[in-house]
Amino acid sequence: MSEELTSPLSKRARQTPPSGIRRFFELAEEMDDLVSLGVGEPDFSAPWAARTAAIDSLEKGRTSYTANRGRRDLRERIAEHVSRYDLHYDPDEEVLVTTGASEGVDLAMRALVDPGDVVAVPEPSYISYGPTVTFAGGEPLSVRTRAETDFVLTYDDLERAGAAEASVLVLCYPNNPTGAVMSRDELAEVAEFAREHDIFVLSDEIYAALRYEDDHVSIATLPGMRERTVVFNGFSKAYAMTGLRLGYALGPPEVIDGMNRIHQYTMLSSPTTAQYAAIEALESCDDAVAEMRTEFDRRRQFVISRFNELGMDCFEAKGAFYVFPQCPPGWENDEEFAEALIREERVALVPGRVFGAGGEGHLRVSYASGMRDLRTALDRIESFVESR
Ligand code: PMP
Repeated sequence: MSEELTSPLSKRARQTPPSGIRRFFELAEEMDDLVSLGVGEPDFSAPWAARTAAIDSLEKGRTSYTANRGRRDLRERIAEHVSRYDLHYDPDEEVLVTTGASEGVDLAMRALVDPGDVVAVPEPSYISYGPTVTFAGGEPLSVRTRAETDFVLTYDDLERAGAAEASVLVLCYPNNPTGAVMSRDELAEVAEFAREHDIFVLSDEIYAALRYEDDHVSIATLPGMRERTVVFNGFSKAYAMTGLRLGYALGPPEVIDGMNRIHQYTMLSSPTTAQYAAIEALESCDDAVAEMRTEFDRRRQFVISRFNELGMDCFEAKGAFYVFPQCPPGWENDEEFAEALIREERVALVPGRVFGAGGEGHLRVSYASGMRDLRTALDRIESFVESR
């Protein structure tokens, strides 16, 4: 009798590749004096008022589950908050509090996708969408966006990729990893495509508050789109609350109910302490968000101009906290460039190809690090580029 242990892992677990970002950062792990512009996480702490609300809730012993959909007073404040984007949702039936926007996206995939369904994922893209499509049994379809159009998704991009056969389309603007934003007119093209081909849209708007030159527009506000869109947002980015793990989904009652049916078995309810912090964040932290945004904007302008001076072509990203410059002349392979830069200059950037089609030859640079780190990193990149 064989006593060899066969792998207990499911095919799904075995076939899930490690995150390209993590794999890359293993290189950097034991390096002293490394400057990392790699992670997509604000260097600020959550506003003090939000932290105080969390502490206060703990002092009062509020450590039980909440309603599956989240505390009603939080859902009410969320509904009130998103009205600034002209989004109007009923707190009882159309709002679901989730454990980060991440859980919201995963729930929506599982609530909307049947095995074999095609989900169109514009790339370069945040790395979680493809795997969540696969976990739901769907087939991700890569829709390549282009540097020539500043990575805005166009009707032509969708047509060229054969997205007409998709039942769901993911949209993420302001975008991770490019920092691109979409105007109302640009979104109108995508909305037209979605209506024509009866496609449901999952719109990840977690960076909505981090738009530097104009106001955020949600695709759900375009004609005929509210009923075919779920909007995701959360507290991680705008309120610097990544570790509190709280987000929300907004959508038609039937879809929110379908998502909640999965959520109630897998999550029960999202973290209670974080819900108290989130209520306070929505009530009193607009000024703190505005201050962080101003600081991000200062850094954004600094990194864009430095990269362009170095001949690393960098389009003017207007949202989130990323820029997506090209490798300097003489370097075509972003992975080789990023590896050499870590080894020789101790600066970590993420190779663009990690984010899928269209990312090759680019680097994702997060400016969610302090100005000192950004200056050091750019000085090191400059001496690296000039020494070649
Ligand atoms: N969507 C995008 C586009 C992101 O960049 C991130 C975080 N990197 C998330 C979702 C995850 O957000 P949360 O912390 O709310 O799960």
